[in-house]
Amino acid sequence: MSGTGPTYDFIIVGSGFGGSVSALRLAEKGYRVLVIEKGKEWKPEKFPRTNWNLRKWLWLPGMRFFGFFKMTFLRHVGVLSGVGVGGGSLVYANTLPRPKSTFFNSGNWKGIADWKEELEPHYRRAEKMLGATENPELYDADLALEKLAGFRGKDREFEPTRVAVFFGTPEEEVPDPYFEGSGPPREGCRFCGSCMTGCRYNAKNTLDKNYLYLARKKGVELISEARVRRIRPLGRKDGADGYEVRFRKSTNILFASTRKVTARGIVLAGGVLGTVRLMLNMKTHHLSRLSDRVGDHIRTNNESLMLVHSGDKTKDFSKGIAIGSIFPPDGDTHLEAVRYGSGSGFWKTMGVPVTYGKNIGQRIIRMIGHLLRQPWSWLKIYFTRDFAKQSMILLFMQHLDSHVKFRKGLFNLRSGIMDGPPPSAFMPLAGKLGTQTSELVKGKPFVMLTEALTGIPTTAHILGGCVIGRNADEGVIDKDHKVFGYRNMYVCDGSAISANPGVNPALTITAMTERAAGNIYLS
Ligand SMILES: Cc1cc2nc3c(=O)[nH]c(=O)nc-3n(C[C@H](O)[C@H](O)[C@H](O)COP(=O)(O)OP(=O)(O)OC[C@H]3O[C@@H](n4cnc5c(N)ncnc54)[C@H](O)[C@@H]3O)c2cc1C
Ligand code: SF4
Repeated sequence: MSGTGPTYDFIIVGSGFGGSVSALRLAEKGYRVLVIEKGKEWKPEKFPRTNWNLRKWLWLPGMRFFGFFKMTFLRHVGVLSGVGVGGGSLVYANTLPRPKSTFFNSGNWKGIADWKEELEPHYRRAEKMLGATENPELYDADLALEKLAGFRGKDREFEPTRVAVFFGTPEEEVPDPYFEGSGPPREGCRFCGSCMTGCRYNAKNTLDKNYLYLARKKGVELISEARVRRIRPLGRKDGADGYEVRFRKSTNILFASTRKVTARGIVLAGGVLGTVRLMLNMKTHHLSRLSDRVGDHIRTNNESLMLVHSGDKTKDFSKGIAIGSIFPPDGDTHLEAVRYGSGSGFWKTMGVPVTYGKNIGQRIIRMIGHLLRQPWSWLKIYFTRDFAKQSMILLFMQHLDSHVKFRKGLFNLRSGIMDGPPPSAFMPLAGKLGTQTSELVKGKPFVMLTEALTGIPTTAHILGGCVIGRNADEGVIDKDHKVFGYRNMYVCDGSAISANPGVNPALTITAMTERAAGNIYLS
């Protein structure tokens, strides 16, 4: 743009999967693009060695912890997410499964398009860009999952995951193996298990090494450590004259001044927590035409995260990539073997025996009962020197639909119940699989304290809140991700996911954004 108009063609809020894909594809069309990202920019060697380094791992600005992993606890769901240049890709476990057919023909977007057919070429492109490939090596946690699959008569359906990791020679740097030399150099994976505390070895295909890297080469500008707080139309109320975006430094809360920039178009890509919060705030102030559906239909993968601690010292569950294998215990469910790298033992501080009960009082009594019946064996677990080596996490996911809604709270979001069942922390099948795995590895199952006591499930796969609809009564965006009521405003991230994929969603977010960004042109 030149003259007195807005400075940029597009401002993208957030640099995760949706933000990075949008940045590259819009820059390729010749648009002048600015990405604003709340979190920090990370170099591989700066990632913490273990998750005990809370300052470098957790994003808790109030305590001056500026890491890349955020935990948000609301009334009906606990959310785990990523913060930083590259968004959730910094913290994610690299796993890129495709959803089953049900996903494309259910939920809010059902019948609006033939989603499976429309998205097929975009899944292929996303897999290529992210470097999806089959995990070539199975280690103890995967072998335990394979045993479980065999025990349940599903050994044929057990398989290694497809992941965004470069499996070259460990410790050997090679020129970019993905983009005909125009990407950054890589090193081969060391199977150290630390993908979720940041890959220190340049083997994980985070977004700053593919989409965002290439976008910046095409001239995309990026401001990190800046939280967007306000978006308002310039001139006409529908955004036809562009938008003003205000942001503040996110890592210097006390002395941060507000800055503003302008653009003709906006892509909201702050992830569900970022985009829905911003939209709810703006709806009451500057973007009153937004659909009343903002914040509705928040989904999870109906997940359950269960820790299994093994007493077998000959095993090393920390070896391998973060999620090395997967199998479907039944038609609605997927189970994955997850690990942290050696030395990462933070989760034991939040782990308690698996406990069921009608109410919190009953659950507390039963939990104390568990601990008192075998005090030494529980103490031994809590004092294990290398918890990650002795433990695996079972990630249980289902594509059965359930939702909550997010609304504006006093300081942050608050959650509420919608029609239909909300996600639950108590899933009998998940409990059974945890117990069976524990028996197979001579161990004990654990769950997160918050889940056991309050019954509130925890998810790393929060989705929805700005769903696709035929009109503003049904959804927040149309089938091309354009926000109803506004010109040149789009949502491209997990909040646009309009059904439950039942598996890890990053590949789907990438594919959906590839499709949407291909159709974005300034009007
Ligand atoms: C521990 C963990 C493991 C996971 N493993 C997997 C896996 O193996 N496979 C998989 O498919 N998925 C996995 N996920 C989920 C995956 O990371 C998310 O689904 C995905 O990152 C969501 O993409 P997104 O584009 O919606 O937003 P994100 O990737 O979450 O990016 C949003 C970005 O926007 C920024 N932002 C938010 N608000 C603002 C604002 N107001 N101003 C400026 N910036 C803002 C945030 O800081 C963030 O960087 C995992 C998640 C976690 C937490
Ligand atoms: S296993 Fe280790 S080296 Fe391989 S991608 Fe994960 S963190 Fe990087």
